[in-house]
Amino acid sequence: MIILGIETSCDETAAAVVKRTQDGQGEILSNVVLSQIEDHAIFGGVVPEIAARAHVDALDGIIKQAMDEADLTFTDLDGVAATSGPGLIGGVLIGLMSAKAIAAAHKLPLLAINHLEGHALTARLTNHAPFPHLLLLVSGGHSQILLVKGVGDYERWGTTIDDALGEAFDKTAKLLGLPYPGGPQVELAAKKGDAKRFALPRSMKGREGYDFSFSGLKSAVRREAEKTAPLSDQDVADLCASFQAAICDILDDRISKALTTFKERFPDIETPQLVVAGGVAANKAIRATLDGVLAKRDAQMIAPPINLCTDNGAMIAWAGAERLALGMSDPLDSPAQPRWPLDPNAGHKIGSGR
Ligand code: ATP
Ligand code: MG
Ligand code: FE
Repeated sequence: MIILGIETSCDETAAAVVKRTQDGQGEILSNVVLSQIEDHAIFGGVVPEIAARAHVDALDGIIKQAMDEADLTFTDLDGVAATSGPGLIGGVLIGLMSAKAIAAAHKLPLLAINHLEGHALTARLTNHAPFPHLLLLVSGGHSQILLVKGVGDYERWGTTIDDALGEAFDKTAKLLGLPYPGGPQVELAAKKGDAKRFALPRSMKGREGYDFSFSGLKSAVRREAEKTAPLSDQDVADLCASFQAAICDILDDRISKALTTFKERFPDIETPQLVVAGGVAANKAIRATLDGVLAKRDAQMIAPPINLCTDNGAMIAWAGAERLALGMSDPLDSPAQPRWPLDPNAGHKIGSGR
């Protein structure tokens, strides 16, 4: 089956065409991502109205490019998928309405996709991750540990009680004078830094449960930066390295704990797997840390390729393909949902903006 996927929930205008074979193998036929970073950089973050207008301007062309690169026409498709939440509502509406129009005009099934499920299932497109597995979802708006039991079947074990991890990276970068988006900038600067120079807190380490807290860490970086100012490039690099090391330590603690619980619950699974997904999963230091943590415990880390960690259309098309293969599709009046937890039983998500 061949699915067109549309992603417009934040600051990437993206469309992709993905093929899924009967036996569940995936192939990306095209994947076009237009980043709006330059439109938002001067504001130090995403401005929703600017994002929505940029999606309106770009989306038709991006969809056409994705179809052309796949060398297909709409009549070749088996379904159209679009992010229908969570995210910035203006952008979500633009992508979802376009998908509905294509679906209606060509009598195709519509797949109204949860953006987080797009991130979550990417590892099945690229690495065939089997169910059940653990999922560390770390992105601009979310930081969660989930048990993934199947398509659409998630159990949330932990979440952030304040900032999302990507948000912590972005805010830390901003206070150190690094450009938006901060995650990749902090990672780059950290490479030249001394991770032992600043003693930063490891919030929640050793605590009950699987929750995260990152705002104290960000504030500690601010205090150290103020004490050290004026900051040289080396100071910034050392702060970034110390910050990233603290993050890696916290993730080590939380994931080790979740893995212990996973093993107790699924004693027959020989090599438990942890999928790491979302924009922050692009961070190589974090990937290396998790890889080590899991390997030590006879488990395996699975991370999608770097370019599929941040927002893209292929992840939405693939989530659509997985759903359609199970006979699911959505009515043409499906609503856009600014908030939409993966696990409806987990209650209201505290903290992070979306
Ligand atoms: P959500 O998926 O929660 O709705 P989003 O779609 O805005 O939020 P993503 O596009 O998945 O988020 O991820 C963007 C986030 O990932 C940003 O906060 C960015 O700083 C962070 N990020 C991207 N690359 C890296 C990196 N190399 N290291 C750390 N963080 C990174
Ligand atoms: Mg983005
Ligand atoms: Fe995302």
